[in-house]
Amino acid sequence: SVHPDDLPRVIAAFQSAVATGEPPAWEHRLRRSDGVYRWFHLRGFRWHDSHNRLTRWYCVITDIHDRKIAEDALRRSERFLLEVQGLSRTGGWRLDLATGMVESSPELQRAYQAQPGDDISNPAFFLSRIHPDDQARVRTTLERCIQEKIEYRVHCRIVRADGSIGYQYAMGRPVPNEAGEVVEFIGAAMDMTDHWVAATELERASQTLRDMQTKLSRAAQVATVGELAASIAHEVNQPLASVVANGHACVRWLSHSPPNIAKALEAAERTVRDGKDAGEVVRRIRALFKRTTAERVPVDIGDVIRDVLRFIEADATRRRIEVLATLEPQVPAVLGDRVQLQQLVLNLMLNALDAVDPIVDRPKRVAVRTRRGDTARVVVEIEDNGIGLDDPHAVFEPFYTTKTDGMGMGLAICRSIVAAHDGTLAAIRNDDFGATFWFALPIENGASQ
Ligand code: ADP
Repeated sequence: SVHPDDLPRVIAAFQSAVATGEPPAWEHRLRRSDGVYRWFHLRGFRWHDSHNRLTRWYCVITDIHDRKIAEDALRRSERFLLEVQGLSRTGGWRLDLATGMVESSPELQRAYQAQPGDDISNPAFFLSRIHPDDQARVRTTLERCIQEKIEYRVHCRIVRADGSIGYQYAMGRPVPNEAGEVVEFIGAAMDMTDHWVAATELERASQTLRDMQTKLSRAAQVATVGELAASIAHEVNQPLASVVANGHACVRWLSHSPPNIAKALEAAERTVRDGKDAGEVVRRIRALFKRTTAERVPVDIGDVIRDVLRFIEADATRRRIEVLATLEPQVPAVLGDRVQLQQLVLNLMLNALDAVDPIVDRPKRVAVRTRRGDTARVVVEIEDNGIGLDDPHAVFEPFYTTKTDGMGMGLAICRSIVAAHDGTLAAIRNDDFGATFWFALPIENGASQ
């Protein structure tokens, strides 16, 4: 009646018991009368006669089938749980509130790299492995959740036995007994180290990228400063070269015999004019980089615009651009720095000329207007029918440019000049073509008007 699979093992055990005299004990399957095999436990007892001779065995055979099936199921479920914990890198724990002892799953012990001899039933072991910077926070959270009997979630770094850093995300909840009293906490802790390392790497990589971008834009600015220096040198060099040439000419006319005083005088006058021009360039550049208003004198804005128009006239004609000026005669004076205001109008006019330059399907037009604003202000509008603006705010940002040879400083400087004059500067897109830049400046004695 012994199951054929168990028979060789049973025979061997039986023979060994007979040979050694050791009491037999084993588990095997036996066939019942209905043909079904069930598990039984066999245990033998020796019986000695009065001369202490082993004369017989008494055996007890107990049906353990149901227990064995339950044990197998339990073992399978435990294996399954362990497998899942390993795969998901999640360890389990249970904290007994009465004893203060903790039970942990092998996966949790693996994550914390528990060594033989570590007192892993003491929560202090796990706390001691938490990174010193995270310890206080985790301890306080855990204590508060136990006290208030609420769920708990915490993430922290752990320092493993080998000194490496791990990252854990732990959660737990209170478990009541049948009487409804919270007797324990059970929880899970997930090993997020790989995820954390990947996220840290990603953050480090994007930080490097940001640093590189900053360096690049700084390099671009340095390059722009280089360009600026080159163009200043160019601007100053021209009148200087002219001063030298006229100086030579003057010396030549004077060395003639007899000296040609009239020609020498002309050359000397040209020298003076060129010298003044060079001085003016330097003055403009200095004014450009000055943040505050250097001078506060009454300035006729119409005069300023007329100066600028004279300056750009030749350029506009060459580029076949019609420039229209509508300057109201009785506009009150504004209080400010004449050179800076010239710089302001000139920048806006030059930008307008650049904007209409590429236009081919309509006459190129730039219009400049002055008028008395509704408050105590003078308003100047520079309107063009050029390529127009995508973003009327962005254009004022320093180094914003869409021109291949642009610097993107013009409008930023304009904005600081207007701000220094307590004024307003803005740009709008026109309904049909192009853009209008306008600024408003407070008039002289504006407060009393
Ligand atoms: P930049 O030297 O590049 O011209 P600005 O500060 O003067 O520097 O202008 C910045 C940018 O604003 C220009 O590159 C151009 O794209 C835009 N912009 C300025 N004025 C106009 C305008 N009237 N129409 C269209 N775009 C303009």
